[in-house]
Order: sequence, then structure tokens, then C-alpha cells
Amino acid sequence: MAQTALRLTARENEIEYPEAGTILKRDTYMDDICPSVRTKEEASKIIHDVEKASNEVVLVIFSDASEKAFGACAYARWRLESGSFESRLITAKSRVAPLKKLTVPLLELQAAVMGARLADAVVKESTFKFSNQILMTDSMIVLEWIRRPAQCFKQFVAARVSEIQRKTQIANWRHVPGILNPADDLSRGMRADKLTDRWINGPEFISKPISEWPQEKSDNDTEDTEERRMAFNGNVVVNPGEVDIVECKTWEEMLELYRQRIYGKQSEALNAEKVREIELLLLKRVQKDCFAEEYEVLKNGGKSVAKSSKLVNLDPQFDMESELIQVGGRLKRNDQLEMEVHPVVLDPSHQITQLLIKRIDSNVFNHGAGVEQVFSYIRRRYWILKGRCKIKSILRTCVSCQMWRKSPAVPKMADIPEARTRIGLPPFYSTGMDCWSPMMIKVRISREKRWGGGHL
Ligand SMILES: [Zn+2]
Repeated sequence: MAQTALRLTARENEIEYPEAGTILKRDTYMDDICPSVRTKEEASKIIHDVEKASNEVVLVIFSDASEKAFGACAYARWRLESGSFESRLITAKSRVAPLKKLTVPLLELQAAVMGARLADAVVKESTFKFSNQILMTDSMIVLEWIRRPAQCFKQFVAARVSEIQRKTQIANWRHVPGILNPADDLSRGMRADKLTDRWINGPEFISKPISEWPQEKSDNDTEDTEERRMAFNGNVVVNPGEVDIVECKTWEEMLELYRQRIYGKQSEALNAEKVREIELLLLKRVQKDCFAEEYEVLKNGGKSVAKSSKLVNLDPQFDMESELIQVGGRLKRNDQLEMEVHPVVLDPSHQITQLLIKRIDSNVFNHGAGVEQVFSYIRRRYWILKGRCKIKSILRTCVSCQMWRKSPAVPKMADIPEARTRIGLPPFYSTGMDCWSPMMIKVRISREKRWGGGHL
């Protein structure tokens, strides 16, 4: 873009300054001008001409806010033949701060929005073209906001940052120290007769080359309360070779994913043997993800785990055949109840454990059982740490379970008729009739409908 703009400038001024035009076109790359001439006079003439040929008007906007008011002012800045710059106020705009109390950074942001709108309006309404725009604010927080994507922020800031980014180039925003900011006169409020030259001509630094303007100081310590904190909610797959199960909603979906990964997409459907194999892999994965240290220690023949481990109270043991950590105990000589005596240890926070609980709730009990039943069923094979709590929380969020367990809503009955509420009257003083719909009556071998009525 810069190169194209420079070439266009050169072409426009080529007739008036032929040598400068040629240099701009031939010897210029980006911002570097590198002509080569024989004499000193020739060089200084060329520099003068080049500067004149690239003489352009820049729009400079300042914005500022205080607790009382906020505003923005626009200046035009152009280069003089002497090499210095001249600037004049074009327009300014201000507003009193809203009655609803806003923090100073939010008011500064409002001022920046006003600056962006002012720049947009000036560019549209002016008869001549500005070669560039520079927008300045004295708030580092606002500058940081403008330089970040709008979706990082809460609604109020996001809407305004997005408008600023739409109307202006982010790269055109710069920082100006508050003391040098002419828009300060707007935000503090000032009598017209007290206005100084700074208001009419802009601050002193504006008449210097941009490289000599005040530099930005980094201020990363400011705490940003307007930033929308992104909460990451999901499972991190540590091993890239593992199947990604984050999207899985049910145990069956997960089995299917594993089947495709292990046996290939075109393989036969799952049978009991494959399911057993995959379930073993899933249990191993839970233990490797959640008890990595304990798994390594026990697998390598360690007899006990660290005292700080979550498993220390379970006296864990490692089953070499299934390669799983099991609950220990003194019933090792019992061969008949191996699974019940030594259940596999699982962590409640792992997605696989949660899907396992959901599967047992839906497939085994069809959402009809309570926490205790699901818990005791799971305990036959698996020992989930803090299992009762986890099952309770999963069943509480299960819609089907809630539908089964909730008592039906009883409609409110109408008031009893007045005739039935009278006191001290003889029996049968008031009578009423009631009819009922057909009842199915068995008559010999067939069933027939009968209607009836009664009085009370
Ligand atoms: Zn359920």
C-alpha cells in the first residue's frame, strides 16, 4: 500500500518536479529513499524537491475524558517549505459525562469513539484528501483495548472497540501524555477567553517530525476488569496418539470411535470380545491420565504409593494381566469374587468415568434407580473415588431421571359448592346429581359399556 501511494504521488508531481518524480519511482523502497548524485548542491535540491513532492496533509485527532466531560478535537497538519510542520484546529466536539456513573477508562473509551467518529466525519466532509490519519489518546488502557479483538471484552467495551476498529486503522492510534493532550481543555472545561495557542495550533510536538513525537510507554500492570474471562471447559488429550473423545456424549459413541481407530472404519461391528478389549483400553486410559505417577510406580513392581497420593487409603495393587490398578485388601486368596474384592480404581473427574456412570444409569436401570442402587452396581467392578457424590451429581442433571422421580403436579381443586358448606340444616336439604362416563361391564363372555348416575 505504502509503495503504491508513493508511486501515485510521484506520478502526480512528475511534471512539476521531474527529477524528484524519477527518484521516487526508481530509487525508493518502502520508506527508504536512496538517491545517488554527483554534487552536494544537486543532492540538496533533490531532497527539497522530494519533500515538496510528497507534501501531504495529515489529520490528527486527540481525545480525552474526565469525570465531568469527554471530547475530541481534530487538527490538520502539513509540511512547510522550511521543513517544519504547521497545524490548525479544524473542528472539535464534546459531551458532558453521562449521569450513570462510568469509570474513567470507559469514559476515555467513549472519547476515543467520539474521536473515531470525528475522523470519519472530517474525511467524508472535507474537499481535499488527507494522506494519513493519526488518532491519539492519553489512556494506555483504551489503546490496549483498541489493539485487541472486540470479542475479548464484555458487551459495553466490545461494541465501542468494534466501532473504533471499523472506522479507523488500529495502526493509526498512538499514545499522547495527558499533559500534552489539547483535548484535555475539552474534558476539564475551560472559558473561551482562557484558551491558549495550544488549542488553536495543536501541541508543540505536532510541528516536529513524527519520529520526535512522544513515545509510548508500556504499561502491562493495569488490571483489566472489562476483559471477558474465557473459561476453558473440556478435556485435554495429553497423548496425541489417543482417540479424541471430547465430543462423545455416550459410552456407545466412544466405543464406536475406538473401534474405528483400532480395527479400521470398514471393520466388522463390535462383538463381545472387541467390547471387552476396548473397555480395558478405556480403563487404562483413565488410570494413566489421572494416576500417572501411581501407575508407573505400581507397574514397575512398587508395593506402595506415595503418602500424598489419592490412592493411599485403598492399598492399591497392580494386576499384571489386565495392567490396571485395583483396590487391595486381604482377600487375595478368594478366587470366586475377584472383581468384587478388587475393583478397578477410577477417577470421578475423567470423562470416561462419567460416561460409564451414565451408561449404567440408562442401560442397566433405565433411569429408574436411585443413587444407592447405581452406586452398589458400579462398586461390584469399579471403585470410583468419591463415587457416591459423583453419581448423585450426574443423576441430578439427568433429564430422564428427573422425569421419573419428580412427583406429578396436582391441579388445584375448585372451591366446594355453597350447598355443601351449609351448617345446621336437615339431611337431604340439598341434593346433587353426578353422572359418570361409560364403565366396561362384563356380560357373560363380552364386555359392554354402562352409564350411570347417583345423587348425593
Ligand atoms: Zn438418568
